Amino acid sequence: VSAYEGPLPIVDPDSAPYWRGAAQGRLVVPRCTSCHRMVFFPRVLCPFCYADTFVWEESRGQGSIYSYTVARRPAGPAFAASAPYVVALIDIDEGFRMLSTVRGCAPDTVQIGARVAVRFQQVAPSLALPVFNLQESGDA
Ligand SMILES: [Zn+2]
Repeated sequence: VSAYEGPLPIVDPDSAPYWRGAAQGRLVVPRCTSCHRMVFFPRVLCPFCYADTFVWEESRGQGSIYSYTVARRPAGPAFAASAPYVVALIDIDEGFRMLSTVRGCAPDTVQIGARVAVRFQQVAPSLALPVFNLQESGDA
């Protein structure tokens, strides 16, 4: 396993539960207690109804690719070793959209609508980043 050279997330009070969950291999996302929608990314105010209270819920981390691009020219030196890589918008089944990357497959096999599942890449002692793998057909 090569060392991670990309930028590290900045953990703040609004996102701390999210990063704690990620470090444990769990996708934990705030749900607005007013309109009941899951909100991603974590933030102070609900982008749908502007309420400011949330409960944290674990997502199953499964969804489908809404859109994607294959980055053949890396977005900076830190990403050079990864190129070409897939940057994707992923519609998670619980109703929120994430920007992430799809790993573990040839970039040219990725398609809009493909099913994906989250896994976590350890990038620092207590930090992990959500990344996605294509799901085999038949995976639950
Ligand atoms: Zn809301």
